[in-house]
Formats: sequence, structure tokens, C-alpha cells
Amino acid sequence: MNNCLFCKIVIGTIHSNKVIETAHSYAFHDIHPKAPTHVLIIPKRHVERPEELRPEEIADMLACSEEIAQITGVKESGYRLLFNVGAHAGQEIDHVHLHILGGASAKAMY
Ligand code: AMP
Repeated sequence: MNNCLFCKIVIGTIHSNKVIETAHSYAFHDIHPKAPTHVLIIPKRHVERPEELRPEEIADMLACSEEIAQITGVKESGYRLLFNVGAHAGQEIDHVHLHILGGASAKAMY
């Protein structure tokens, strides 16, 4: 956990391009965006898999996603919310992160 990249982003020892922050969540722009809007929402607590999230963390992440869609201008045009879970899904970082992808047709993203 101490060596977790996203934990370091939460505490600020690694820089990120922050979008919003709440008591439970931290959201920042993906460093290699796969869509015109590509933001990651993470729980501040180190959690490795979505099923380990507490109800209040899940609710907060979803509320953040709606706010970020509004801020980034994709709320009306539509966006994709995505968890990659485990190796076959291509999960690179073992700290849960919810991708928000928007700004282009979802069919062109993946
Ligand atoms: P996943 O493949 O679901 O594990 O997604 C991990 C995401 O984290 C990828 O889209 C990466 O581009 C992104 N990422 C990795 N390092 C950073 C970083 N330092 N700042 C922002 N995004 C990052």
C-alpha cells in the first residue's frame, strides 16, 4: 500500500491534474487519455477491488462521476463509466479506479 501510485497521488507526493476531491474520493485526469475526456475517480482509502468498496464510497464515486461529466461538458453528450478488474481486464494499478470516458462515441473508444 505504501508503494501504491494512486495512494501517493491522493496524498500529493506524486503530482496529478486534479478535477475534484471529496471526503471519500479523489478525481484526476488520466495521464494517457483514451478519449477527449478521460478522468479517473479513486477512493482515498486503499481498496484493491470494487467489491471491497464501502456503500458510502460507491455512492460518493457515482456522485463525483456526475459532477465531473458536468464539469468536462460530456453530461449531455454521454460518457462511459468503467472499472477494469484483474489481469484479463487489463487492470494496471491495484487501487480501484473508475474511468470516465467521453467526448467521442463510445464505439470509437474501445
Ligand atoms: P487500468 O488499466 O484500468 O488499471 O487503468 C490505469 C490507468 O491509470 C491508465 O489509463 C493509465 O493511463 C493511468 N495512469 C497511470 N499512471 C498515472 C498517473 N501518474 N497519473 C494519471 N493517470 C495515470
